[in-house]
Amino acid sequence: MAAVAAVRPSAVLSRIDEGELVELTRDLIRIPSVVRPGEPGATEAAVAAYVERWLRREGFEVEVHEVAPGRPNVLAWVGEANGPALLLEGHTDVVTEGNAAEWRYAPFGADLVEGRIYGRGSADMKSGLAAAMIAAAAIKRSGARLGGRLVVGALVDEEGDMIGAKHLCTTALGRALSAAIVCEPEQNELCLEQRGVVWARVTARGRMAHGAMPEAGVNPISALGALLREVPALERQLRRLCRRSPHLRPPTVTPTIVQAPVQGVPQSNVIPSVAQATLDVRLTPGPDGDAVAKEIDVACQRAMDAVPGATVEWQAINGFRLATRVERSEPLVRAMVRGVRQATGRAPRFGGVPGSTDGTILRMTLGIPIVTCGPGNRLIPHQVDEHVEVRELVDAAKIYVASALNFLKP
Ligand SMILES: [Zn+2]
Repeated sequence: MAAVAAVRPSAVLSRIDEGELVELTRDLIRIPSVVRPGEPGATEAAVAAYVERWLRREGFEVEVHEVAPGRPNVLAWVGEANGPALLLEGHTDVVTEGNAAEWRYAPFGADLVEGRIYGRGSADMKSGLAAAMIAAAAIKRSGARLGGRLVVGALVDEEGDMIGAKHLCTTALGRALSAAIVCEPEQNELCLEQRGVVWARVTARGRMAHGAMPEAGVNPISALGALLREVPALERQLRRLCRRSPHLRPPTVTPTIVQAPVQGVPQSNVIPSVAQATLDVRLTPGPDGDAVAKEIDVACQRAMDAVPGATVEWQAINGFRLATRVERSEPLVRAMVRGVRQATGRAPRFGGVPGSTDGTILRMTLGIPIVTCGPGNRLIPHQVDEHVEVRELVDAAKIYVASALNFLKP
């Protein structure tokens, strides 16, 4: 094979066209992709089809994986199949716009005002996805030789159960991945840590009885009350187990749902047989799933001891998504630290992701290093008048280009 001179990153960076990137982002925002279960057509399908067409037109190898009816993952790649594979990851779903009347700009209008693009998904995360697509296209158009594969993934259902990321991990392309940049809105900080989450659904069982004769039954609501009193102790214990991080809030345990009776009609004079609560448990890196489970078990046991005759047990809804962390010495991190300098002329800023992302699934299932870095203010997702700064959007595309060229150096 004829030797191809290595393409300098600066030559590829100059190919990032702000106008093209802005228009692609606006096009993606204008295709609503709020997933509304039970409403046919209210899925990611239309935006996924747009992404697929765009990537095919650029000449990428494209794979479309139907994860669920009308819910396709779109994957595209360029480069050499033997060698490391780097994923630029985005999701195509967005959360609801809520009440459109509360918006200053139409939620799916993609208005461009004073250097900002407004709309649902502008930050979370059609801008990150567009930046990934434009970055990969710039590399492909430049003819730069890669020492591996650059993969762009537009996945479904990040805002739901992350079935898109889970599905990707079962495919040949997913299993071939060596590292991933998760393009979620983190104001272009390099986030090496993400908090984890366990949704613990606690079920207390007792015995139905008349409210005037509580001694004839066992009240599961009292057991649930005992459990809620254990929450501060559980939180303290998890804080002891988890590592402290300058970029992440310490673990929290927050009750989010309380329900009794769980079945049947609520009646003022009836002690129900079952009561349920959900604890939203957020974690920082450190303990494994078993260690976390043991602490929740202890809280349930104490609640049970407090109400003789009641049983209190729990299960994790959607499994465990533990906190993730990668070391600064990882080749991906080194490639990105250099990449940020090459792309922006500035030293990188480091940060942490307050919640979990598709990257959590990739890290836990495939064991690959992930770094979360993308355009948009960290706090803006899911808000009214969501927006992204064009300046940050352009920087993100450049950071992806430089980082990918560094990581996939031939
Ligand atoms: Zn997101």
